[in-house]
Amino acid sequence: FSSVELTQHFLQRIDELDSQYNSFITVTPEQALAEAKAADDIRAAGNAGKMAGIPIAHKDIFCTNGVLTTCGSKMLSNFVAPYDATVISNFKKAGMVSLGKTNMDEFAMGSSNETSFFGPSKNPWDLNAVPGGSSGGSAAAVAARLAPAATGTDTGGSIRQPAAFCGITGLKPTYGRVSRWGMIAYASSLDQGGPMARTAEDCALLMNEMAGFDPKDSTSLKKAVPDYTADLDKPLNGLRIGLPKEYFGEGLSAEMGDTIMTAIKEFEKLGATVQEISLPNTMLAIPAYYVIAPAEASSNLSRYDGVRFGHRCDDPVNLEDLYKRSRGEGFGKEVQRRILVGTYALSEGYYDAYYRKAQRIRRLIQQDFLNAFEEVDLIMGPTAPTAAFDLGSNTDDPVQMYMEDIYTLAVNLAGLPGISVPAGLINNRPVGLQILAGHFQESQLLNAAHQFQ
Ligand code: GLN
Repeated sequence: FSSVELTQHFLQRIDELDSQYNSFITVTPEQALAEAKAADDIRAAGNAGKMAGIPIAHKDIFCTNGVLTTCGSKMLSNFVAPYDATVISNFKKAGMVSLGKTNMDEFAMGSSNETSFFGPSKNPWDLNAVPGGSSGGSAAAVAARLAPAATGTDTGGSIRQPAAFCGITGLKPTYGRVSRWGMIAYASSLDQGGPMARTAEDCALLMNEMAGFDPKDSTSLKKAVPDYTADLDKPLNGLRIGLPKEYFGEGLSAEMGDTIMTAIKEFEKLGATVQEISLPNTMLAIPAYYVIAPAEASSNLSRYDGVRFGHRCDDPVNLEDLYKRSRGEGFGKEVQRRILVGTYALSEGYYDAYYRKAQRIRRLIQQDFLNAFEEVDLIMGPTAPTAAFDLGSNTDDPVQMYMEDIYTLAVNLAGLPGISVPAGLINNRPVGLQILAGHFQESQLLNAAHQFQ
C-alpha cells in the first residue's frame, strides 16, 4: 500500500480516538498527506530510502517550521517556529511523514503529563492512569496505535518512564549523540532526544536517521553513526548483566521486583550471566538532579520575557510590569517552582552550598557507573518504582512526584544511554525493564532489547 493510504489510516485513528487520549496538541493532516504523496512519488521513481513514507509524531518540544510549537505551555501557545529542529529535518530528509505534535508536560517538567497547559494525556491501557511524562503524548499515541513511532526527549527519564507506563520501547541515547538544535531547552547538560516506538527494532531504524554530528549543536559529538540495525540479532552468550542492589531494595514493591526478575531470567536463558553490583550514590541522584535541572532551567527560561516571542500580557504599564505579568501568566505552577528553586540555587551565597555540591555528586554518580561497567556489560532494573499511577494522585505533592524518577535521573547525570522495554503487566498496567550501557553503546542496548522481545 502507499504512504498516502498509510497516513490516511493513522490520521483517521487520531480523528476518531484522540478525544479520549489527548495525545496530540496539533495534528497536521494537509501537510502529512502532502509529505506522503511526495514520498510515494519518490518511491515510484525508485530512489526512496527505507523509512520514506512512514508516519511519525513529534513531541511538541521540537521546532517545526510553520507549525505551532508550544512545549506544552501557555507561554508558547501562539508560537509558530520559523525553522525545523535538526531531528525534524533529518526525518524529513529520510522522507518520513509528520502527523503532528504530541502532548507533554510544560517545558518537559514533570513525570505524568499533568503539567501540560493543554490538559493531561491519558494512558491508553487505563484511562484513569497517567501515561507518564514528560513525553506522555508520544507514548500514548504509539501505544494507542495513533502513530507507528514518535520522538521524545529525556532530561531525567522523559522517554523511558512514559515508554514503561504505556508498554512501548523508548531509547535515551548517549548525551551528544542526537542533536539538540531546535529542541526547546530545559536543562541543556541533561537534555537528549530519542526514539519511542513499539519495538527495539523500530527504535534502531529511527536512530539511524536521528543520530549524528551537528555543527549547530556545540555538545554534539563528532563520531560515526553505526547502522543500529546491524547488531540486533547478535547472540547474548556470555553477556554480563549487573543488577544494582540499590535498585531492588526499599521502595520497590514485591510485585514489581518479581516482574523485573522474571524478565531478567529470560536473559539468563539467552546465555547471559547475572551478578549483583552496587551504585552506592543512587539515593543522591534525586537531590542532585533537582538542583542542577532547575538551575539550568531558570537560565534557559529567562528568554521568555514577553518581548521577543510567546505570551505577552495585556496593556503593560512599564517594562517591569510586562516581564512580571507575561511570565506570571505564561508559566504554570510547576515551571514557576523550578525557576524559583533554580534561581535560588544559583544565587550568590547559596551557589557553593547547592549548585557546586550537586555538581560534585554528579561526578560521584558518573564514577559509580564507570566502575560498574568495568565489571559488567549491561545494567538492568526497573524503569520506575511503580506501574502508571492514577491521574491526580501525585499532583499535590511535588516531592512525591520527583521520587518517581529515582531509577532514571542518574543516567542523565552520567550522560549514559538507557532503554525501557515492556516487561509485563501489574493490574493491567504495563511495567518497563530499564537496560543501561556504557557511553555510545546504543547498539548493545538495542541488541539486548531485541533479543528479549
Ligand atoms: N521528571 C523529570 C523532571 O520533571 C524528568 C523530566 C524529563 O526528562 N524531561 O524534571
